[in-house]
Amino acid sequence: MSTKIETRCIQEGWKPSQGEPRQVPIYQSTTFKYDSSDAMGKLFDLEAEGYFYTRLQNPTNDAVAEKICSLEGGVAAMLTSSGQAANFYALFNICETGGHFIASSSIYGGTYNLFGVTMKKMGIECTFVDQELPEEELAKYFRPNTKAVFGETITNPTVSILDIEKFARLAHSHGVPLIVDNTFATPINCRPFEWGADIVTHSTTKYMDGHAAAVGGCIVDSGNFDWMAHADKFPGLTTPDESYHGITYAERFGKGAYITKATAQLMRDFGSIQSPQNAFYLNLGLESLHLRMQRHCENALAVAKFLASHEKVAWVHYAGLEEDKYHALAEKYMPNGTCGVLSFGVKGGREAAIAFMDKLKVATIVTHVADARTCLLHPASHTHRQMTDEQLAEAGVDADLIRLSVGIENVEDIIEDLKQAFA
Ligand SMILES: *Cc1c(COP(=O)(O)O)cnc(C)c1O
Repeated sequence: MSTKIETRCIQEGWKPSQGEPRQVPIYQSTTFKYDSSDAMGKLFDLEAEGYFYTRLQNPTNDAVAEKICSLEGGVAAMLTSSGQAANFYALFNICETGGHFIASSSIYGGTYNLFGVTMKKMGIECTFVDQELPEEELAKYFRPNTKAVFGETITNPTVSILDIEKFARLAHSHGVPLIVDNTFATPINCRPFEWGADIVTHSTTKYMDGHAAAVGGCIVDSGNFDWMAHADKFPGLTTPDESYHGITYAERFGKGAYITKATAQLMRDFGSIQSPQNAFYLNLGLESLHLRMQRHCENALAVAKFLASHEKVAWVHYAGLEEDKYHALAEKYMPNGTCGVLSFGVKGGREAAIAFMDKLKVATIVTHVADARTCLLHPASHTHRQMTDEQLAEAGVDADLIRLSVGIENVEDIIEDLKQAFA
């Protein structure tokens, strides 16, 4: 029976048989036992499926990855130790030294650094683009060695909305996949595969976990990108892997090729696994994701309206507001709401922003976002402080920008708190 997304939040993933635990067990084991040498050998040859070492795969992690895969409508998924690891693997799985990819410049600061600095040291070049540019302008950034296009459904911290269809068209007309970081929207509010994205990544640390309990990440493959049709661009998937018995992933694993390669090669060699304990916490978060997202969006809209009408507020960005620049895109891609995060500027700039933040009582200052508790951050002094003013401007992060992550408390308390801090 095909079920709706709210049901899948609860029921997908772990499917116990008679007498087995109702909740997904934490397989707190590094390794798994086999009866014969031959039985274990077949696993290493990828001839039989089974667990042998938790660095590659673990049953708790797989059950939780399967749930996220189902929520996104994908064919295969894997958990990673963090969102950073997810985005790195998502690109490095198809992009090697000498390769190039295109990313929106309005992305999470950590991802910007990973792409612009660390991957550059590996000989992989990223061109950051203004995601608002028209298609024909964006097309100019493609090169013969371009391997992928990357963007965030809702950008962190500027909360702009990515025009997923535009980016998917651009990527596909140049024979490369579109990778979308869907952390802020979550599959409850947007499923990028339905709009043409090929691969989705998550920092599960945010809404999916939702309780500031466990850092984690996830990669989901739609199975829609035809690697063989662009075989020359993606030799890692379309030619034999000598480090894995000469297997050609795209031939052998079809729609599962991308995730199989990321597991068999990247997890094997880099080892950024999620601990099964963290996967268990993540699963608890997923069980209420649909309820929490709805409340986050309701509360954020009320807070955004309050801020928009406040005399000490210079500007507010929240796509749920009718007057917002991204309202039409939000209506198209996220008709049920965007997320609980909004950004705004306090009149008086950087100093006024800091003074205001220090007066808050319900909302707390943390380097975190998208969880049950209302929290906030000043990117120019916190997450983005390594960036120059020029880079900040390019990323659309004004010096007075406060990123407010509206939680699921009583919204009247949140608004009262903001009122007293302004006063
Ligand atoms: C936080 C975040 C990341 C990084 O995730 P971690 O789990 O902190 O490593 C990546 N993308 C987005 C959109 C994020 O908000």
